[in-house]
Formats: sequence, C-alpha cells, structure tokens
Amino acid sequence: MTNCLWCNQAVINPISLLDILAFKPIKEKPVCGNCYVNFEQIMTGESCPVCSRSQVTQEVCADCRRWKEIYPDMHWRHHALFKYNAFAKEWMEKYKFTGDIRIAAMVSNDLSKKISSLKKVDFIVPIPISKKSYAQRGFNQVAILLKKANISSVATLENLTVSEQQSKKNRAERLKGRQPFRLTIEKKRLRNKSVLIVDDVYTTGRTILFAAECLAEAGVKDIQTLSLFR
Ligand SMILES: [Zn+2]
Ligand SMILES: [Zn+2]
Repeated sequence: MTNCLWCNQAVINPISLLDILAFKPIKEKPVCGNCYVNFEQIMTGESCPVCSRSQVTQEVCADCRRWKEIYPDMHWRHHALFKYNAFAKEWMEKYKFTGDIRIAAMVSNDLSKKISSLKKVDFIVPIPISKKSYAQRGFNQVAILLKKANISSVATLENLTVSEQQSKKNRAERLKGRQPFRLTIEKKRLRNKSVLIVDDVYTTGRTILFAAECLAEAGVKDIQTLSLFR
C-alpha cells in the first residue's frame, strides 16, 4: 500500500486480470484517483494543431500565427500533456518553488507514455535553467521530471540569462527578448539529428522557440517540442 504524493491518503490499486496474466510486478500508483483527475488531459481534436493549446476549433491559434511571422522557416510541433489549470499551477508551485521533487513521480507514467508515442529522436533536451535559478533552487525541474520517468536526456544547452529588470525594456524588446541559450556540445554532434525539447510549462512559447532556434542554427534537422502543461 502506498500513500498519494498529493493528499497522503492510501492509494488503492485495483488489480485487473490483465495485471495478473502479465506476470509482471504490479506497479503501485503514486497518486490517488481523486487527485489524478485534476490533471486535465489535452485532447487532440480540441487544441491548436501546432502548439496543443486547448481551444474549441482545430485552427492554428493566434500565438502560433505570430511566431510563424517571426520564424517563417522554422517547423516545429509542440505536444503537451495537461492543461495549465488552477491545479497545475498549484502543483508547479509545490514542485518548483517549494522543491518537493517527490511529486514529479505523479506524472512519470504519463510523461514516459507520451514520449514513447512520439517519433523517435536522437536527443531529448531538457530546457536548462539559469545559473542563478540553479543556485537558488538546487535542481533543474525539467531534468528531474525526465529522470524520474527513466528517460535519458542530454544537456545540450545552457541558459545564460542574467536577470534584467523588465521595466527597463520597452514592449517590443520584451516581446522579442534575447536568445538566452548557448550550445554546450559540439555542433557536429547535432548536425542532421532529431531532437525533442522538453519544458515544464509552455505559456507564450518564447522559451521553447529560443531553444529550437539555437538547435536549428546548429544544424538539427528535426525538432519536436513537449511540455507537461500548456
Ligand atoms: Zn490523492
Ligand atoms: Zn498554437
């Protein structure tokens, strides 16, 4: 018997006939059904076909159309698991800011299933955090998500962000931003390769697209992106 990583109640794992016939050790779920339902799945038929934003139509959303103007030559497809709802925000707060990394296990199964459903890639790249954030937090939340899900990733990028006062920038500068990423491995290792860039939350797409731009410039030929929440 395990206890739910979110509410601490005992988790009852119903054993199916299939489990018995599989002759595999039965994996105990780290989250109870009541808590798990708060993770709202994004349905493919009800989301933007480029960025997985949840919406009623299946048309390319306004955000993606704007990015296409800025990056006319870049092709990417963003996948996401869950909606960034109120629960997701609370979950991220607990995970990232209070540092309760145990709860990463609540989504491990979904994350590994999702990644195995995508086209196979040469490298899985977690979005790196800045040195300052690392010093404060002590862990890269995306790398931990992957690690807990037994997915091997390669740190091909570093994040050079030094905090700048947002107020000092004008609107256009804020929107465009400055490329925060730099390669940490040799370009030739990436040439003509395929990658999957992984982040925790996709909000405007700014971060993931900077990472994609950096890898595309290094010669990566096929880029897919994924976030836990969208
Ligand atoms: Zn629970
Ligand atoms: Zn979109």
